[in-house]
Amino acid sequence: RTVYVNGEYLPETEAKVSIFDRGFLMADAVYEVTSVLDGKLIDFEGHAVRLKRSLDELQMAEPCTKDELLEIHRKLVELNDINEGLVYLQVTRGSDGDRDFVFPSADTKPTIVLFTQNKPGLADSPAAKKGAKIISIEDIRWGRRDIKTVQLLYPSMGKMMAKAAGCDDAWLIEDGHVTEGTSNNAYFVKDGKIVTRPLSTDILHGITRKAVLRMAAEAQMEVEERLFTIDEAKEADEAFTTSASAFVMPVVEIDGVQLGDGTPGPIAKRLREIYLDESRKAAI
Ligand code: PMP
Repeated sequence: RTVYVNGEYLPETEAKVSIFDRGFLMADAVYEVTSVLDGKLIDFEGHAVRLKRSLDELQMAEPCTKDELLEIHRKLVELNDINEGLVYLQVTRGSDGDRDFVFPSADTKPTIVLFTQNKPGLADSPAAKKGAKIISIEDIRWGRRDIKTVQLLYPSMGKMMAKAAGCDDAWLIEDGHVTEGTSNNAYFVKDGKIVTRPLSTDILHGITRKAVLRMAAEAQMEVEERLFTIDEAKEADEAFTTSASAFVMPVVEIDGVQLGDGTPGPIAKRLREIYLDESRKAAI
């Protein structure tokens, strides 16, 4: 693979970042994951805008302009011959060559790293045809989940707990309400109405969430943004998650309770189709 580090395109084995980098020592870093379909970027604009917001919230410098970012994404897709896959982007606060809790001076150069992941069959996924089984676990993450930081240890542990339970993923519960999935936003459908948690600092403002809610409204589907419990989701007709890397993923089981007939629901399936179709058309 050819990867990008601080202005250079290099073979992955030659790419280097300092051991003092605050991304490595303190998870002082933000990231984005953009999907590639037909060799084109899905919703690059949305990811670029959210990256800027994450950087601003952490008073971290922008490593380059949006146009440069787009060029890097495109060049990596081309160099690595990606037809379906992902582009991972990470920006860290860098380092001034030592470990310190205090931020280094504002003129410290941020570190920027990008790499691709080739995922043939990303859109036509067998997992989406089967639907996901999820468990619910307590949400013990920090309080600024709207900032897309690389503090992914608990989401990672959540996926391991799901795997140990013979399931695919976990939804997180705080104060009796579902916040989101470990790496996706969460929804259920009851009597034709789609319910999802409203945006706040409690959840990541999903790029896919925004697109899917717009498409649902355009397709005359009813959407309600409100807090909901895991029991409501268990009693739902269907459920699903959204994320840039898995698009719309039907959920067929929650904490061992089967939803509907245990196969992906019609609204989740339809939204997946609409999302893939429209995103491909708008890809750049
Ligand atoms: N919530 C969390 C916690 C996530 O990690 C992600 C994916 N990064 C999402 C939601 C979905 O966001 P997006 O649609 O922008 O991928």
